[in-house]
Amino acid sequence: MVSTMQTIFSLHKKGKNKYTVPQFGEKSFDPIPEHLCRSKLDLVDVSEVDVVRHYRKLSSLNFGVDNGMYPLGSCTMKYNPKINDAVASLVQFTGQHPATIEELSQGALQIMYELSQMLCAITGMKRFTLMPAAGAHGELTGVMIIKKYFEIKGERRNVILIPDSAHGTNPASVAMCGFTVKEIPSNSDGDVDIDALRAAMDENVAAMMLTCPNTLGLFDRNIITIAEILHTHGALFYCDGANLNAIVGKVRPADLGFDIMHVNLHKTFSTPHGGGGPGSGPIGVVETLSPFMPVPVIEKKDAQYYLEYNRPQSIGRVHSFYGNFLIMLRAYTYIRMLGASGLKQVAEHAVVNANYLRVKLQTHFNLPYKRICMHEFVINDEGMPGGITTNEIAKRLLDYGFHAPTVYFPLIVHGAIMVEPTETEHKETLDAFVDAMVAIKNEAHTNPEVLKAAPLTTPVRKVDAVLAARKPVLQWEE
Ligand SMILES: *Cc1c(COP(=O)(O)O)cnc(C)c1O
Repeated sequence: MVSTMQTIFSLHKKGKNKYTVPQFGEKSFDPIPEHLCRSKLDLVDVSEVDVVRHYRKLSSLNFGVDNGMYPLGSCTMKYNPKINDAVASLVQFTGQHPATIEELSQGALQIMYELSQMLCAITGMKRFTLMPAAGAHGELTGVMIIKKYFEIKGERRNVILIPDSAHGTNPASVAMCGFTVKEIPSNSDGDVDIDALRAAMDENVAAMMLTCPNTLGLFDRNIITIAEILHTHGALFYCDGANLNAIVGKVRPADLGFDIMHVNLHKTFSTPHGGGGPGSGPIGVVETLSPFMPVPVIEKKDAQYYLEYNRPQSIGRVHSFYGNFLIMLRAYTYIRMLGASGLKQVAEHAVVNANYLRVKLQTHFNLPYKRICMHEFVINDEGMPGGITTNEIAKRLLDYGFHAPTVYFPLIVHGAIMVEPTETEHKETLDAFVDAMVAIKNEAHTNPEVLKAAPLTTPVRKVDAVLAARKPVLQWEE
């Protein structure tokens, strides 16, 4: 399959590993006594240089944001400044055991405390917990908080409203927490259908979960009205703020009427991610919801930081220790490096880059929602020559040196291609992406067979997607 690669096993040759430990004075080291060896591992015999070259080659097989533009919509695959990794690699942090007593963890506690405060300043929320390990985990924590809020109020509300454009994790988190999902349609502009929302409101509705900006990359123009409708009925307004890139430093979700939200540190606040981790999905809440936050919370008294567990209304613990600390360090460094004005520029450049691409591409590709976008926009394969589909466009982009955009999401756009360039790409790179997309469209006319066979230049060529999902081959067999 990976024709350009040998496995480490094929490099094996008995006696190749000549690694020796020098003698210490007169004494030579005994081999490990037989009774301490738990099992005989079937390890390969290779030299150090074989190992280094093997893993160096492996590391170049995947496409990453350090290889090229990665316009994966709704994932905010921005370039992550290396200083964030440098800070997260400091042995003062990596060497600290998470069970270290508070007196000896003041630095780590201070960073978490200050990061929470920064997130409060950015979002307008009163309090943040950094415990959830990902966006979806944050959602679940948030929904647990919503549940607890109504439980303590003595209200039985079992419905949460979610627009049809939502990320799949939203209904999943809601269902996991025992609520019923009610879907609210979008109108032809891509905003929430206000009449449908009004019709859905009753005393069973606990909350609405809205992605802001939504997954079409649009800012819902009725957001204040939506907040009013929910609050009039005693319901809460949850913001899926996984992608805050378009509004960070520009508008605070709490000012729009949101009561609770999660943000993905591994999207907006810079952490290399993909393949399911690592991540951090902090939850922020307004004052009324703060008693329900998970324990422990980090408090500060007389210049000392400490962990507070005595919170009788808390939903409890949602993660071992305090969450994914190294991700927090990257976000902390990122925010401190940019400052308030830098963060504002992130949003401005992200939005300008997305709109630049949108305008350039809309003359060649169908744009279902013809509006100014935020950090991303959605085109599709409608009208592509030769029956070429989104999947084929996406695969071919790899041959041009670009990762594919997000495809077939959101579900409300047929054959969706969701493009998010982020703020970290130059105009030259954006232009090259447009050229690649236009070249692919021309190939659809002139050479559709190439598109059907693509990608042609990657270590692994086109795979049978259904077979790969149903019967994944996870083990190398000669
Ligand atoms: C990425 C994303 C999520 C989920 O975040 P994970 O960290 O992958 O669990 C939720 N909602 C939206 C809108 C997202 O883009």
